[in-house]
Amino acid sequence: MLLSIVTPFYNEEEAIDAFFSRLTGLLAETMPTYDIEFVCVDDGSNDDTLAILQARAINDSRIQVVELARNFGKEAALTAGLWVARGDAVIPIDADLQDPPEMIPEMVRLWAEEGFDVVEAKRVDRRADGFIKRFTAKAFYKFNNAIAAMPIPENTGDFRLMSRQVVDVINSLPERQRFMKGIFAWVGFRRTKVEFVREQRIAGASKWNQWRLWNLALESITSFSTWPLRVWTYLGAGIAGLAFLYGLILIIFTMVGGRDVPGYASLMSAILFMGGVQLIGIGILGEYLGRTYLESKQRPIFIIRGIYAQNGEKPAPSITIKDDIV
Ligand code: UDP
Ligand code: MG
Repeated sequence: MLLSIVTPFYNEEEAIDAFFSRLTGLLAETMPTYDIEFVCVDDGSNDDTLAILQARAINDSRIQVVELARNFGKEAALTAGLWVARGDAVIPIDADLQDPPEMIPEMVRLWAEEGFDVVEAKRVDRRADGFIKRFTAKAFYKFNNAIAAMPIPENTGDFRLMSRQVVDVINSLPERQRFMKGIFAWVGFRRTKVEFVREQRIAGASKWNQWRLWNLALESITSFSTWPLRVWTYLGAGIAGLAFLYGLILIIFTMVGGRDVPGYASLMSAILFMGGVQLIGIGILGEYLGRTYLESKQRPIFIIRGIYAQNGEKPAPSITIKDDIV
């Protein structure tokens, strides 16, 4: 049985040594019967990450290094890694050791012995994250899961185990804009979870600031729900109903009490309010239109510059079709 450990690396030169020493030690000790493959995706790092990974690949036949042509972002890097991975089970894990590798033996056991297709690792304690991140994460899961077709399991990142079948299904999804957490949840299959405490980063800093996280949240919502589009029908109907009632009241008052000219304040606030509401509606339409536009261009999700392994450099596929990489 072959296990693939898939890791995106973006400017992680300080974390690489610790990453491999912890993983190789652990895997040799706890799972000596499994073959291991490390798929390391260099997501266009501008430090020495790629060189360090390549040097390691020369000394270690288990390591494959996938060099992307530029920084495509974590979701794309992970997609590339899943594409290249050949294992019977595939485990995406972050390079910064925030996902404890010590969970892997239990995840593998649940898959191999109990027949689960997906074993998610759930954070039970987000002490490593600041207050704002914890709060916004909670709000995101609440809102997203209220409107999405398939709820995303709370506090579950990309760290998980997936069987070959699940990975093949994910690889076959044609969408270009990949919100991996949502995709992982959307495919279904028999799933279970293990719980862990999220640790501090081993080195370097997180690449996710609040703005990128906000965009990720938008991406998640627009990828898996059309509720934000539909809500305008109901909002419009509600406002139209209220406007009709208000019109009736105005007519009756005018007929009973004569003409009432002053009304600048109510007129002005109604116009401004309605203008704002319409702009928000147009903005949300635009959000979906933009996504449709990007999907319709059919550009590849990532571009691989080269794949490096001990037995030399593999020819780099010019396009990211799975069969070209084999
Ligand atoms: N990462 C990546 N491309 C990016 C940003 C991040 O491949 O553009 C990788 C990064 O090297 C790490 C993982 O994604 O292995 C998670 O990143 P980070 O630790 O910054 O995110 P956080 O743990 O704060 O969610
Ligand atoms: Mg991290």
